[in-house]
Amino acid sequence: MATIKAAVCRAFGEPLIIEEVTLAPPGLGEVEVTLDAVAICHSDITFAEGAWGGNLPAIYGHEAAGVITATGDACGDFKLGDSVVVTLIRACGDCPSCAGGAPTLCETPHDTMAGPLKDAGGAPVDQAMACGAFAEKVVVSHRQIVKIPADMAREAACLLSCGVITGVGAAVNAAKLRAGQDVVVIGAGGVGLNAIQGARIAGARRIVAVDMSEEKLEIAKEFGATHGVLGTQDAPWKASYKALGGRGADAVLVTVGAIPAYEQAPRYLGRGGRVVMIGMPHSGAQASYEPVILAAIGQGMIGSKMGDVVIQRDIPWMIDLYQQGRLKLDELISGRWRLDQINEAIADTKTGSAKRNVILFDRDGAAG
Ligand SMILES: [Zn+2]
Ligand SMILES: [Zn+2]
Repeated sequence: MATIKAAVCRAFGEPLIIEEVTLAPPGLGEVEVTLDAVAICHSDITFAEGAWGGNLPAIYGHEAAGVITATGDACGDFKLGDSVVVTLIRACGDCPSCAGGAPTLCETPHDTMAGPLKDAGGAPVDQAMACGAFAEKVVVSHRQIVKIPADMAREAACLLSCGVITGVGAAVNAAKLRAGQDVVVIGAGGVGLNAIQGARIAGARRIVAVDMSEEKLEIAKEFGATHGVLGTQDAPWKASYKALGGRGADAVLVTVGAIPAYEQAPRYLGRGGRVVMIGMPHSGAQASYEPVILAAIGQGMIGSKMGDVVIQRDIPWMIDLYQQGRLKLDELISGRWRLDQINEAIADTKTGSAKRNVILFDRDGAAG
């Protein structure tokens, strides 16, 4: 049993509390990772606010990077000292979805309340999203982690765990963009910027970013958007048609949680185009659309979870592109914080900043 510091949610909508909790040693197929960096994702905040339900007390945090400091049996070729990113994709490897190449849709239930975390009084703590990475260490399945170069900056690497693979994967894996296609990305936040750079990497001809903020549209252009459309105007899809030479897009990627974005998304599409739904609205939120239009002009709507990635396949190529200067990671970071500043970092994220706040752990224990 390790005793570690963690940011614990004891009541939805309340600040997280820094507590000492215990972490069980890794079991079969599991590793212990001592974290260097964890980013704050909007999903962490949505959970902490109670919008998706879930168990309490809980430790959130799921975009992490660090070093393996203990291994259980049967961990493949992972070994002590390996630098890794930790993702929330705890795929069993054997169910029909995993076997069919869709590990993000793994069908095997996993009880996160029966995970490795207990509080100081010995009561179970939920290892939310199978990570619990707002903590100095995690114990996770070796299937959730991917090796990274030892010299890769952890604050950049951790971003690969969720926001980057979700956005880039949505463009490459879910929308299956081909070179020369036209793309609209609704929302230029953390996932949206990555959908934009995914579309650029896939060879899109024109990439229209749609956002409510001029400032975010400018940032979107740094990530590869060729045009920006303010979502606050009347019928913003008309400005998109104009940008695309009078036609609709081959793919519209919706990266926000706001329902009007889902209802408007098909309006941006061209014939035969696809809406890819990536953002995560609150549970129970409903959108409406006109099925006859989709049928009449062969359009489709699909959902994409975690960019439909296979982490062992996709994270290594993303690291190569990062090292070649073709995938931006450092530019996604807006702030660096200690674990004991996590509530301030969350408050800053909630202001709608386009980018990521990262918690950095001091291995010598002086901070956090
Ligand atoms: Zn996330
Ligand atoms: Zn599975």
